[in-house]
Amino acid sequence: MPTVQIAYALARIGTLLKSLAWEDAEKLGVNPTQAQILVRLAARGRSRVSDLAAELGVSQPTLSDAVAALFRKGLLERQPDPEDGRAVRLQLTWAGRAVAEAARVPPPAMLAALEALPEADRDAMQRGLVGLIRALQLAQVIPVQRICVTCRHFRPHAHDDAARPHHCAFVDAAFGDAALRIDCGDHETAADPDLLPLWARFSAAA
Ligand code: SF4
Repeated sequence: MPTVQIAYALARIGTLLKSLAWEDAEKLGVNPTQAQILVRLAARGRSRVSDLAAELGVSQPTLSDAVAALFRKGLLERQPDPEDGRAVRLQLTWAGRAVAEAARVPPPAMLAALEALPEADRDAMQRGLVGLIRALQLAQVIPVQRICVTCRHFRPHAHDDAARPHHCAFVDAAFGDAALRIDCGDHETAADPDLLPLWARFSAAA
């Protein structure tokens, strides 16, 4: 498929996902940015506003507006920052945790469409998307993502098993392309000199 056609296809899917995200978030009484904040806090625990803004790729004023709305809705609370006596970190309330749980479920229509694809197509798609995200991250057009191919625990093509060639040293387990993580809570960024060799080992056997 020509590159431009892939870009068109991704744009169409992006538009659909955006509209589904609005519908789903509205049902939960939040907007998509507010839903992303809740999901991120559920995954990461207490966070500073500045860290959240960087991870979500939104400006600090946009994030502050969304956070203010979440306080009004009783979904967030402030906690002292253990590393800075003058700062605070954001934390979910019980109500916020419940909304985050509901908001992290991908749109059922998208899940059903993906399930209908042959497994080999899903594996190839996951592998391609991980590479695309990494390229966009390198180009600094999306926030840094916690993906396997930049993780110090990732051992690409460490096993002869074609279905599960990779290894995660964190959980000491083999896994396949379909299980490559896009936002892993256990991710630890590999040292700078290791990043390119890691990618080379992953992509060489594609
Ligand atoms: S810790 Fe997470 S990101 Fe790192 S290799 Fe394991 S699954 Fe991938």
